[in-house]
Amino acid sequence: MTSAKFWQNNAKSGIIGCMAKHFTLITLAFCASALMSSPAAWGEEGGSASAKVLDPEQFKDPTQILIKKGYLAAKTVPDICAKLFCYCGCDITDKHSSLLDCFTSDHGVGCPICIEEALIALAMHKKGKDICEIQFAVDKRYAKQYPFDSPSENLKKYNSERLWDADKRQSKSQSKDNGKTPELKKNKKSGNCCGGSDEHSKDKKDAK
Ligand SMILES: [Zn+2]
Repeated sequence: MTSAKFWQNNAKSGIIGCMAKHFTLITLAFCASALMSSPAAWGEEGGSASAKVLDPEQFKDPTQILIKKGYLAAKTVPDICAKLFCYCGCDITDKHSSLLDCFTSDHGVGCPICIEEALIALAMHKKGKDICEIQFAVDKRYAKQYPFDSPSENLKKYNSERLWDADKRQSKSQSKDNGKTPELKKNKKSGNCCGGSDEHSKDKKDAK
């Protein structure tokens, strides 16, 4: 298949449109709570991150229309791309730490996965989806396309930071402690500064 045909077929199949169907209420709940409990303030580096993305206008050929859109997407939502993992294998081959890195060079030109992930990021962002939902969509769609049999350090790091399964990770670490409430030390009582004596009521009486 020529690359032009590949892009045409992909455009027809409407990958992005059907992504939205994969969300469940449960995931949305996970996302909401993960976002509330996470201090992750993504978006703070917007301007400079956007500037690092190659100029989309350099892709003038009509056969490069999707490539151009991909770079444009990365330029528009660089903060989201910086929070997504690119599953094309560039984490190992090119030492990329996030999807954003794919667009700061011409790496993205020859990579359908990079382009599609960026297009999904922008399309979902426009629909008001948050980073958690976008991570979930991209992970579900592309994680199985990761070409290596064991995850790189970057992928492990991403997996430990992604928002949509934060609750699962949290409950795992809680179950390590058996979920027990901490036990009091011997001779200690909780919630009573004077160990249960009636000193306080005595003080009150004395004050009168
Ligand atoms: Zn890539």
